[in-house]
Amino acid sequence: MGSGKKLDFLNLRQTVSERVNEITDARQDGKIKHSMHDSCLSALAMMYFQDSSMLEFQTRLQENAQRNNLQTLFKVSSIPKDNQMRDIIDKIPSERLFPIFSDFFRLLQRGNQLQGYQFLDEGYIIPIDGTQYFTSESINCPSCLKKEHRNGITTYSHQALCAAIVHPDKRQVFPLAPEPIKNSDGSKKQDCEINAGKRILKQIRNDHPKLKIVITADDLYSKQPFIEALKQQRMSFILIAKSTSHKVLFEQILQKEDLDQANRLEWKDDRGLIHKYEWINNLFLNGNQTAPVINFFEYSILKDEDRIIYTNSWVTDIQVNVDNVKKLVKAGRAKWKIENENFNTLKNQGYHAEHNFGHGKKNLSFNFFLFILMAFFMHQIIELRDPLFKKARCKFSARKEFWNQLRCTIRILVFENWESLLLFIISPDTEIRAP
Ligand SMILES: [Zn+2]
Repeated sequence: MGSGKKLDFLNLRQTVSERVNEITDARQDGKIKHSMHDSCLSALAMMYFQDSSMLEFQTRLQENAQRNNLQTLFKVSSIPKDNQMRDIIDKIPSERLFPIFSDFFRLLQRGNQLQGYQFLDEGYIIPIDGTQYFTSESINCPSCLKKEHRNGITTYSHQALCAAIVHPDKRQVFPLAPEPIKNSDGSKKQDCEINAGKRILKQIRNDHPKLKIVITADDLYSKQPFIEALKQQRMSFILIAKSTSHKVLFEQILQKEDLDQANRLEWKDDRGLIHKYEWINNLFLNGNQTAPVINFFEYSILKDEDRIIYTNSWVTDIQVNVDNVKKLVKAGRAKWKIENENFNTLKNQGYHAEHNFGHGKKNLSFNFFLFILMAFFMHQIIELRDPLFKKARCKFSARKEFWNQLRCTIRILVFENWESLLLFIISPDTEIRAP
């Protein structure tokens, strides 16, 4: 399996460079001082190091030392000013950045890192979930989602539907390109999560025609139109289904339970908690004539025989049995989040605060979100595959302290490459050329 690129910082960074260089060609404006590449890679670097003052410090390094880390690590030949970068990134059609996620994915595939992530025979677990990454009471754009509150206040927001390949027992996740939940020009109707959900299924299938997929999602999605969309895209599913929103389904369950047709499994763990599984196959999702046939399972954790401390229920197209019910529950419960370090650090630094963060006129807000997710993806791969990173990371107990150290270090010293930065973190007495 010697072919294919190594899963390291350099190759990931180069992958991004190649893709954004393709965007440059589409631009007709030759007068722009800073290239598309330099702007995009500057944004990526900011998100990668979660440092909103990255450009400022690296510009200072450049002035003092005639070199800087944006240049050495990210191949930025001339550092743009913050507002120049934002202007350029605002205009990039977001679809042009999507292929980077598939590129990373293929690198994982070719590096044989993916097969270990298949938890269910039916396919890779891909949870989809909405996230809000911008909100304001004043700043807005035509694609903002608008909400009028009872107290007269209007809030504007940007949301996206995120998807990632997860394994319930593994820490790293692999994000796929997200789908914006946004209003399109001239449309009176607000976009919604479900519509975005249907779009992301199509997009995932497009990007990965042969991948075996099990979509997981919350109760909002366990409705007929979405399940039909899943079938159309040849995807399996495990969707939360609550009794409050699935009346007809739960009536059938009650009837069958009376006849004692439910299958049951129970076990007690070391702490004395009882784990209870119940399932029934072949039920109708709802009362429609065309109702999809689904399988149902429920999981509860009980303390002292009768006190329920957790309970949840799902519908799936997978036949449930005593052998797979535990796995299905684990799959249904597997969640992921963009780590605080990627998202909140920038937020806390004020980068996402509305006053100094450009919302842009077109795509800035979503494109920045894409760069955050891209940097997060890079971190996931590097955590998994980079031995030097693991060694450096071990020097610190808190993740936050580790990234703080990286940020501080690159503010004052220039490194030839990512590896030499890590080597310096591992043993700071390593000889390096100070600026
Ligand atoms: Zn907006």
